[in-house]
Amino acid sequence: AAKQRGKANYVRYTGGMEQPVFAHAQLGGELRRALDADEFRLVYQPIMELATGRVIGVEPLVRWQHPTRGLVSPAEFIPAAEGTGLIVPLGRFVMREACRQTAAWLAEFGPDALQKIAPNVSVRQLHDPDFLADVRQILAETGLPCERIVLELTESAVLRGPQVLQTLHRLHDMGVRLALDDFGTGESSLSLLRAFPASIVKLDKSFVDGIELDEDGTPEANARQAVARAVIQMAGALGLDTVAEGIENQGQADRLLGLGYTLGQGYHLARPMPAEDMTRLLAAQREKATA
Ligand code: C2E
Ligand code: MG
Ligand code: MG
Ligand code: MG
Repeated sequence: AAKQRGKANYVRYTGGMEQPVFAHAQLGGELRRALDADEFRLVYQPIMELATGRVIGVEPLVRWQHPTRGLVSPAEFIPAAEGTGLIVPLGRFVMREACRQTAAWLAEFGPDALQKIAPNVSVRQLHDPDFLADVRQILAETGLPCERIVLELTESAVLRGPQVLQTLHRLHDMGVRLALDDFGTGESSLSLLRAFPASIVKLDKSFVDGIELDEDGTPEANARQAVARAVIQMAGALGLDTVAEGIENQGQADRLLGLGYTLGQGYHLARPMPAEDMTRLLAAQREKATA
């Protein structure tokens, strides 16, 4: 059925920009129904080497293909899914599908085609007593090695106390890597980063926006650059990798490269795309490598 609906449906949200498409109370029941009806889809956004454009990983992003309302943005339903607890089965679906797809890409294109898959994980999932067992089962089922997985967490998730921290340490001990998403927007602190077994920080898009515009010398532009510089220095000191998010033009990519960022993600590099398009991108990359 997904195939018949066609690719065009993936292209744009119909909601999001205008009125919310659902009244809040309606949403919980709709999400349950949608999960049972298999209406959630994944799109994949490449994480690339800034200097070469080589794909080094992908972030799976969930989409809701509603039968009558079209494609619904996660901004509209993730909060409700978290509130109702439906994020637990939905997150399990995302992880299973992303791992299955990544294992298939690795089988088709070889182990160097991409290093990692980086799904987003909500704090509600980390509180689920079955979370670790689910991750282990999905890895066993799909045959994806644990070091190919990076879980993207926000700072607020990480700050939820000892139980969550223990889960994160267990994941780390299994060989699963952890990334701090949207870094710089929450209560980022050095002590947090030391307590938390992170391998990667993702510089939030808000510090990338306008980073190329320093010529005008506005305090805002200078502040963004100062944050981007501070984050990469701190990451370097703590032995963490960095990814810059939301790169929308070459000026931003150049500026980030100049500051020492090597990896990035954004519409200028590649938009989130259906699996078939990602497969074509990986095929083209292999052509180039063997040419
Ligand atoms: P995020 O994890 O920070 O994901 C990056 C978001 O920025 C994605 O939006 C992506 O499409 C968008 N983006 C990437 N490059 C650019 C750019 O150059 N310009 C602009 N304007 N945007 C860019 P998306 O897919 O709408 O997801 C929004 C948020 O929803 C995600 O933010 C994440 O927090 C959440 N989310 C998405 N999928 C999942 C999921 O499977 N599970 C959970 N728990 N949360 C998810
Ligand atoms: Mg993310
Ligand atoms: Mg992010
Ligand atoms: Mg973000």
